[in-house]
Parts: sequence; structure tokens; C-alpha cells
Amino acid sequence: MAAEREIQLISEKFREFYAKGRIETPREMERREFGFIPFGAKAMFRHLSFSTPEDLRLYLVKNTPAHVYYSSAYYENPEAEMERKGWLGADLIFDIDADHIETPCKAEHDRWRCKGCGLEGRGETPESCPRCGGISFEEEKWICNRCLDAARHEAQKLLDILIGDFGFSPIDELEVSFTGHRGYHIHVSSPNIRELDQPARREIVDYILGTGIKAELHGFKPSLERLTTGEGGWRDRLIKALYDYLEEADLKALMEAGLSRATASKILEIKDRLLQILWDGRPSLALRLIRRRTLDKLVEAAVEREASAIDTVVTTDLHRLIRLPGTLHGKTGLIAQRVSVEILDDYDPLVEAVAFKGGMLKVYVERAPRFSIGGVLYGPYIGEEVELPMEAALYLLCKGAARLAG
Ligand SMILES: [Zn+2]
Ligand SMILES: [Zn+2]
Repeated sequence: MAAEREIQLISEKFREFYAKGRIETPREMERREFGFIPFGAKAMFRHLSFSTPEDLRLYLVKNTPAHVYYSSAYYENPEAEMERKGWLGADLIFDIDADHIETPCKAEHDRWRCKGCGLEGRGETPESCPRCGGISFEEEKWICNRCLDAARHEAQKLLDILIGDFGFSPIDELEVSFTGHRGYHIHVSSPNIRELDQPARREIVDYILGTGIKAELHGFKPSLERLTTGEGGWRDRLIKALYDYLEEADLKALMEAGLSRATASKILEIKDRLLQILWDGRPSLALRLIRRRTLDKLVEAAVEREASAIDTVVTTDLHRLIRLPGTLHGKTGLIAQRVSVEILDDYDPLVEAVAFKGGMLKVYVERAPRFSIGGVLYGPYIGEEVELPMEAALYLLCKGAARLAG
């Protein structure tokens, strides 16, 4: 975290941003709870409410919080303590974070250090320290285009299900936003889901993840000769998922899916025939080549690969506070930004979400990998003073990777 002088500068920049113009607000903002985390603090101020966008904007100008959140829920009294708020319903929220997606670039830009014994490593932080078994780490995590592309790909898979299977309107009911850091949020606002309780939301999550999907209910049974495809839903998705999975799978992947070496080798031998069967939409024929138990394992692995990497805890939480689109992310200085579904394909957050442009700033960088902001590549830097364009300097200051020079 940045120190006093740095916080002052970042706050000043955040203030300029909020002073400039209007602020985006969620639907029915007066029924939402708002929460804020100040710079340099860990705890959140919450149970606040605002009745107009201008009230909220003035609060942001005055207090310049590092993080701004609002409730997915609608309440009778958003300012009351939890039990007295009077829950009226909640939007359905999906959180996709590159943190939870395996990307090879993490080995290049992320680091961890065990607080117990000081062991350092690159890439994803282990569950426990390989040397001392400790579970407490200092982490340096960075965003890059490859991580963000992976997160966007997951968001697109999710949108396909929400639009294709659930029938939500991409114009009226779905909102996608870049989180300002490592991923995307998808908000569903619809009277059809508003009052769903936790178990009902859990069912939606299970459907999206393809949890417990049964191959025989989707055409993989001996009696059915030719499958009707093109109906949407998991039937088509499963065939496609299995096709894509098999096409790429090697011996190692098949064994990781739980197959013996012998069975995995056999699958590779008959791979082309299996692919043809799936391509022809005749999954029942697959059971003439492989056993049901083998098929089930392949299906499970294929579904896991195909399902969207959502954080299930967020979606099933009825009182979740989530980042408010249009506000700044205190760890990057980037805008948490709404993105319309049609342009998501071409959206480049590290260019579009840049908030601070103009001017140069001299900073001392402790350590930063190669990174991209505003379409320009910087670094890597280690223990050096550099003069950078404002957006890059602010980014490093917010990340706590640099301090003001001099
Ligand atoms: Zn250790
Ligand atoms: Zn990356």
C-alpha cells in the first residue's frame, strides 16, 4: 500500500476524476446499501445510502475512497443494520476473476513470499508453503492482457448461457462491467430473478457449471440413434464441449481426467472415430466404442473445461456488496467500467479504462514486471527511478510498487 505522500497524490487525482462529471448509478439507487474502503484502510464503511446520483458524487469528491461498493440487494431501509434492512430482492451477480483462471503468464508476472520462512516463488501462490507448510504469504499480482482475455472469454461463455439458455435480454437485463482490476462482473436485473432465494440461486449456479450433468439424458444412450441438435442448452453444449476436449486431449490430460493409462491410450487410438460421431450428432454410437464409465469421466472433464469460471460464493450471496461501475479501483487507478455486450469482443480494458491522462511523473519503482497501460508497454523495472506518463505512474503508485521520487 502506498504511503502518506503517495496517498495524498492518488486521492487528489481521484477527486479530480469525480469532480469532473456525472456518476453512474445502479437501478433504484435509493434502495441500495453503499459501502466504501478509504485509502490505507482495510475495513469498509457500510450501511450508507444515497437518494440521488449527485449526493453520491459529492460524497466521492469529498471523501475520495479507494473502493466504492453497492449492494446487489434492494432494501426497504438500506441504512439499517442487517437484520432490520428489510430485504426486497437482489440482482443476480456473477464474478469472473483472472485470479481463479490458470494462465501461463502468471509465472512471468506474479510472485509470492512465505511470511513464515521467507521462501519466494513465481506464479500462483501455493496453498501452503512447500518448505515450512505456512499458509500466510505476501503476494505481488499483476494484470496483463492474456489474463484479461482469459477472463473475458469466461464472461462470454457465461453470457451465451444467460442469453441462450435463460433468455435474458442483453439490452435490458444484462450488464457487463470490467472490475478495474483482474476481471468482469455480470449483473442480471430482472423481475424474474429478483426474489430468488439462496437455494434457487445455487441451482442457477449448478446449471451454469454443468454440475452433475448426466450424459445419458443428453443423447448418450444406446437406444437413441440420431440426436436432434440445434435446440440450445447443455445438449448442444455438451457435444461441443466433448468434441473440443477430445480434440485437444493428450495422454496426460486423459489420465488427469481419471482414466487408466491403457484406457487413455485406447481413446487416443479411436479419437478420430469419436470425433466423427460427435460431429455427426450421433453420441449414442460412442457407447459402442467405449464403456459408460469411461464416457462419464470424459464428460466430466469436458464439462469442467467448458463451464464458465464463476465465483460461486458471489452469486449465491443475497447481501453482496459489489464494486460500483463508473468508479475508480484503488489498486490500479483504472475505471470499473460498463461494457455493452456487443462491444465486449473488441474491448481492451487496459486502454479503455484508463482514467488519468496527461502529464508526466517521476517515480521510484521497487519492482514491476513488463506491463501495458494505455496501449504502451513499460518495464520491467527493478529499483530504479523513471519518469512515466501519468497513467502508468498512477498505476504503479496504486499497486504500491512505486513511490514518488525525490
Ligand atoms: Zn515457508
Ligand atoms: Zn497474465
